[in-house]
Amino acid sequence: MQEQDNEQRDNQQKNSLIIQEKGELLAKHEIVSRSMAKNLIREAIEGMKNAYTPYSHFNVGSALLTKKQKIYTGCNIENASYTPTNCAERTAFFKAISDGERDFSAMAIVGGKNGIVSEFCPPCGVCRQVIREFVDPKSFLVILARSEEEYLVFFLEELLPLSFGPENLNQ
Ligand SMILES: [Zn+2]
Repeated sequence: MQEQDNEQRDNQQKNSLIIQEKGELLAKHEIVSRSMAKNLIREAIEGMKNAYTPYSHFNVGSALLTKKQKIYTGCNIENASYTPTNCAERTAFFKAISDGERDFSAMAIVGGKNGIVSEFCPPCGVCRQVIREFVDPKSFLVILARSEEEYLVFFLEELLPLSFGPENLNQ
């Protein structure tokens, strides 16, 4: 019980640090430096330019960082029959996975109507689950950006708490 309380307090502390001093925490933990976060955001904005969105006109771009520091970009790709539509986050992951990559550190996401980014664009539930398949939710970072200067950083675990992943099948 005591252990559980401690763990809970540690988690709360970790989360409040992220909220209060996002950039600092990133630098301290050296998961992704502030300059890499900016770089990823820039790449996500580039990726968004290829979005295929004749139906929603809501363009999304993503940039996925591997642990070897390689970046895969993605965009959303819509379809006339709607359901085969693929999100930018999954596009980047599928590109990387099909290239043999398996270890990832972070992903930046940007999006907006007609490609104009004015709000943060959080990943949909399906993408959160797909990301979950390939990362450690306690350390993988999701960067939601409005610009290279204005962004929020979350551990995947914060966006998908109590998640079901590959380990659950091995219990
Ligand atoms: Zn999605």
